[in-house]
Amino acid sequence: MKTAVVTGGAGFIGSHLCEVLLSKGLRVICVDNFLTGQKQNIEHLMQEKNFSLLEHDITISFTVKEEVDFVYNLASPASPKDFSKIPIKIMLANSIGVKNSLDLAVEKKARILQASTSEVYGQPLEHPQKESYWGNVNTIGERSCYDESKRFAEALVFSYAGKFGLETRTARIFNTYGPRMRLGDGRVTPNFIMQAISGKDITIYGKGLQTRSFCFVTDLVAGLIALMESDYGKPVNIGNPHEITVKEFAETVLKISKSESKLSFTSLPEDDPVRRKPDITLAEKKLGWAPKVRLEEGLAKTIEWFGQQKR
Ligand code: NAD
Ligand code: UDP
Repeated sequence: MKTAVVTGGAGFIGSHLCEVLLSKGLRVICVDNFLTGQKQNIEHLMQEKNFSLLEHDITISFTVKEEVDFVYNLASPASPKDFSKIPIKIMLANSIGVKNSLDLAVEKKARILQASTSEVYGQPLEHPQKESYWGNVNTIGERSCYDESKRFAEALVFSYAGKFGLETRTARIFNTYGPRMRLGDGRVTPNFIMQAISGKDITIYGKGLQTRSFCFVTDLVAGLIALMESDYGKPVNIGNPHEITVKEFAETVLKISKSESKLSFTSLPEDDPVRRKPDITLAEKKLGWAPKVRLEEGLAKTIEWFGQQKR
């Protein structure tokens, strides 16, 4: 039986990943300090005999008694709303925290996957974004605590691979949505859905002409596992290339939730990327992976879940 450590396993993506790994017959050790994750995300897994929780802050060095085959390092806040609230914690999770996860992988001779992000491309001057693009990041802007620490994390992962011969995988994750996002998380999906189902105005930042490409969480998790299981060591974009404007996204949420909320427009935050769309040619070629869930389908499931939480 193989064992996977999932840091950030009580978070949105992490909890879905733990679930799928368990269903594939792995033993899963979730490491989380609940900074942005929630106990309820893993409540249903606590009874499973192959699941255990280590409540721990990964910025403090850690190990586990079991042998470990895979380390999925997902522990990091991810909502832009957190960038101004807990910037130092974000930078430490993505530097010291990543180092501690890498040290665990070295100690256990495990393969490690780092959850990187499309944010390493910053305000991209190349569109769609390929892995070969080096990015355009403001080092002192509102998003820099996240963007720059995630870039540092990639460099650290590659330094460990070179120095220790560690088997590393780097997933550049693009905007992902689905059940178990925190209701007050501040990202566009929870905001728009909560506003739509409560009959409140939909808060569009700027004119809503900026674009994003939204990937449903089950597709994303399948991509992470395919990358971990592959023999490809360089960064790979994992996301859905279907690009839409934020205004179109709002209108889709309104349509699917049958909401009569109105659109309202406020100022655009600093350095908010104007366009974002992954080029997933590499993932298709190297992993045989591509997303399957259409936005309308994924949004319907997500809206249903948010509706159940609201009651
Ligand atoms: P999330 O906030 O739901 O999950 C992050 C988890 O990490 C939480 O459970 C949190 O409590 C935990 N955590 C944070 N700091 C920690 C620490 N120091 N020690 C232990 N646990 C800690 O966010 P998410 O959306 O599930 O993101 C998961 C990962 O994927 C993150 O690394 C994020 O940067 C990356 N990512 C996510 C997206 C997305 O659209 N969701 C996009 C790009 C990258
Ligand atoms: N956004 C918005 N209204 C909101 C929240 C977000 O218009 O209530 C916009 C935000 O400006 C960005 C996009 O939606 O252009 C995606 O934002 P999110 O915070 O989800 O993630 P990002 O892709 O910026 O990291």
